[in-house]
Amino acid sequence: MSDTSHGTYDAVVVGGGPAGATAAHALGSRGHDVLILDKSSFPRKKLCGGLVTWKTTQLLEREFGWNHESLGPEDGFEYSTPEYEVHFDGSTVKNGRSERPYYFADRRGYDAKLFEAAVSHETVDALEGAAVTDVDASTGVVSLADSSVVEGRYVVGADGAHSVVRNSLPGFDREAWGDNLAIATETFVPREAVDIDPDSLLVHLGFVNWGYGWVFPNRDRLVVGVGGLNRKNTDSFRTLLDRYFDRLGIDADASSAESRPIPFGNYLTEPTADRAMLVGDAAGFVDAMSGEGIFYAQRSGELCAHAIDRALGTGKSAPRLYTSYLDESVIPELRLSKLLRPLLWGGPSALRRPIIHTWGAALHRQWEELVHGTRLYRFLRKRGDPYHTTLP
Ligand SMILES: Cc1cc2nc3c(=O)[nH]c(=O)nc-3n(C[C@H](O)[C@H](O)[C@H](O)COP(=O)(O)OP(=O)(O)OC[C@H]3O[C@@H](n4cnc5c(N)ncnc54)[C@H](O)[C@@H]3O)c2cc1C
Repeated sequence: MSDTSHGTYDAVVVGGGPAGATAAHALGSRGHDVLILDKSSFPRKKLCGGLVTWKTTQLLEREFGWNHESLGPEDGFEYSTPEYEVHFDGSTVKNGRSERPYYFADRRGYDAKLFEAAVSHETVDALEGAAVTDVDASTGVVSLADSSVVEGRYVVGADGAHSVVRNSLPGFDREAWGDNLAIATETFVPREAVDIDPDSLLVHLGFVNWGYGWVFPNRDRLVVGVGGLNRKNTDSFRTLLDRYFDRLGIDADASSAESRPIPFGNYLTEPTADRAMLVGDAAGFVDAMSGEGIFYAQRSGELCAHAIDRALGTGKSAPRLYTSYLDESVIPELRLSKLLRPLLWGGPSALRRPIIHTWGAALHRQWEELVHGTRLYRFLRKRGDPYHTTLP
């Protein structure tokens, strides 16, 4: 047992994944003292399809200085392709080519690179293998499993879907959170095991309720997974993955596949309490239609850091600023993705079939733009300067 205090920081960031690393990097680049605490050591494993869209590459460019034209293995990227296929109930909806490529990150390498960039700032410290057990939002005191403590003028909860920081906040509604959790089950399959075109991003709608199956190409392997709203599926997700293997003609066994939760429509509109602010999965910031969470993790990390920076400079309240930034940009998108998703997932197949095929025939370009972030869910309109590229 230790009763060590690690001191006081401008911000203690709990979790060094994409959300936490982005927040810490943005704060470090503005000269603030930051401590990142992560229960794992980087590089560490993270179950994820790794699909990264254009809006994220823009963020990587402005926050980390990574040029989107040269993203490659040294940045944790496995593959990129503009090709995609969407299938519904056994028929092809769209075999398309997007104006911009889809990137596929190996989360082990990608997260390690982001973490490395964050701790490269002189003012950013990190403790790895440091599990947080409790946060007192009113004092900013963070307690660790080894009984040590650290204090932050602000505490950033970036500790993922099972967030301890979130669970420490007063008034958090666990039941509502559980209602909108998706489960995703995924595994790697060697490329040679598959008798389909493995150079496209493949999406299969129609056999997981309120969710879908995916095949994401990597250099030497494919990421194959299924995911959907937990309460809408009675079969286990391993059973659904086995069925998906059969559909794809893949001779593989889902018993070794792993499953993790994805927040899927349970975003928190006020993810703050006193000195604590939640970012990324901890706040449920995932597109409720596609399950894309990497962008929202990094975007909320960026906005949270911006709020803390302004607050430290002006004496304003960082949580209040952060909430206003979220209201301006992130929350409307998450709200609308949740509102629109019954079109894709709800109701009987016979009703959805014409909608999905109309989308494939007439609206695929708009959809590609929505995914890449050059079009917003809000007003479904295209803006010259999409919010994704600017700070408030
Ligand atoms: C199977 C699957 C497939 C997915 N596919 C995609 C995809 O293709 N594209 C996409 O955009 N999104 C995808 N997602 C979602 C995406 O993975 C998440 O939205 C994203 O990782 C969120 O980032 P984060 O930084 O908020 O959390 P995380 O990446 O989960 O990072 C949280 C960090 O906090 C640390 N931590 C946790 N608890 C503690 C604690 N108590 N103390 C200290 N540290 C702690 C963890 O070790 C971890 O490093 C997928 C998710 C799943 C499960």
